Amino acid sequence: MIRSMAYLGLNTPAVTEWRTFGSDILGLHAIDDGADGAARFRMDDADCRLWVHPGIHNDIAYIGWSLSDEREALELKAVIEAGGAKLHRADADEAAARRVRGYYWFTDPMGFRHELSWGQYVSPGTFVPGRPMSGFRTGDQGMGHIVLLVPDLRAADLFYREVMGFNASDCIMDGTRELLFYHCNGRHHSLAIGSPAPGMRGAHHLMLEVNSLHDVGIAVDRCVETDVPVSKSIGCHTNDRMVSAYLYSPSVLRIEYGYGGIAIDDLWEPKTYSRTSLWGHKELRPDLPPAMIVGN
Ligand code: FE
Repeated sequence: MIRSMAYLGLNTPAVTEWRTFGSDILGLHAIDDGADGAARFRMDDADCRLWVHPGIHNDIAYIGWSLSDEREALELKAVIEAGGAKLHRADADEAAARRVRGYYWFTDPMGFRHELSWGQYVSPGTFVPGRPMSGFRTGDQGMGHIVLLVPDLRAADLFYREVMGFNASDCIMDGTRELLFYHCNGRHHSLAIGSPAPGMRGAHHLMLEVNSLHDVGIAVDRCVETDVPVSKSIGCHTNDRMVSAYLYSPSVLRIEYGYGGIAIDDLWEPKTYSRTSLWGHKELRPDLPPAMIVGN
C-alpha cells in the first residue's frame, strides 16, 4: 500500500536555473550535487526530496512513493506484475542514491517511471530553508502532489486506482476538461491526472505546501522581483481548498505553491466539482507553454 509521495526526479536542460529557483524562490534547501550533476533539494528531515537531473528534454524522471517496508512493496509488486508491468529491484548503490533503504521500479502504461520505496533516510533537525520561511507541510502527507497529463484518461484512471491502489478523491468537470484526483493519506490528493489531448504525455504541476500563507505571498513577490513568471495568480481550489499560486519553473513544469489544504479521512466521499477554483488562479501568462509536454 502506497503511504505517501516520497520524492520526485526531473530531467531538464535548465539545472543551473533550477538551483536559484529552488532555493531563492521556493525556499528549498539545496545540498551537494548528485553524481551526474543533478541539483538536489531537501524540504524537511528527509535527506532529499527533489532531484533535478541534467537532460536534453524536460520530463518527469521518476516518482518515488513511500511504503512501510519491503514486504509491503512486494505485495504491491505482485499486483502490478499481474497487471502486466515488470518491476525491477534497485541495487544497494541505486537505493542509496535515492536516500532510501530500497525500492522497486517500473514504467507504467502511460510512460511514467514509479519507484516503490521504503526506509527513506532522515536527518532530524537539519533542514535549512533557502530563504527565511516557515517550512513545508510534509510528514504523513508526504512531499506534495503531482499532476500528470496522460495519453488516455480512462486507462490511466483504471491503472492508478485498480492496480496501484490509489483512492479516488474527486473529479472536476470544467467545460470539456476532466481532472481526476487520488489520495493515499490525509492529503486531499497526492496524484491527479488530466488528458488535454489524446496521446499526449507530460505533467502540469508539482504542489508543495508551506506552513504559512505569508510564504505564498513572499514567493510571488520574489518572482516579481526576479522576473520569474507567475503563471496563475493566487487563488483557492474548490476541492482541496488550497490557497496557492502557480510559479513557472525553469523546466516549464509549474510549481503550485500553496497553503491550507484540507485533510481528509477514510470517511471521505468523492465529489464532483464544476470548476477548479473558488476565486483567483487567473491565467497571467497565456504566452508561455501551457504544460510540460514530454519533448519540449
Ligand atoms: Fe494542484
